[in-house]
Amino acid sequence: MTPRQDTAPSALTLLPLDIEGLSEQQRRGIVCVYDGIALDTTAVDLGQRPHGQIQVFPRACPRCVADQAAETAGAHAAICESCVDTPAGCETVAALRRLHMEHAR
Ligand SMILES: [Zn+2]
Ligand SMILES: [Zn+2]
Repeated sequence: MTPRQDTAPSALTLLPLDIEGLSEQQRRGIVCVYDGIALDTTAVDLGQRPHGQIQVFPRACPRCVADQAAETAGAHAAICESCVDTPAGCETVAALRRLHMEHAR
């Protein structure tokens, strides 16, 4: 196994996130940023994001992450030239699919 440099952005950062439209609880990672349900220890950390003067700590439930990853992969494949040329899809789509598999139950 060849260790790879962490140059590719985490697939989590590829998921759509409308920080502007988030509630206070969503910004603090207390409830899921996608469906607003209360989060427990299975919550997926989407990574801290600066938003103007404040820091946002978005988190989501695994089911939403799986859904968003699948949706984002589909939308990406439709507009990505590398994905058209490669049946398996480019690295971006591969990362999103891995993310989906990781959280789909
Ligand atoms: Zn959710
Ligand atoms: Zn692609």
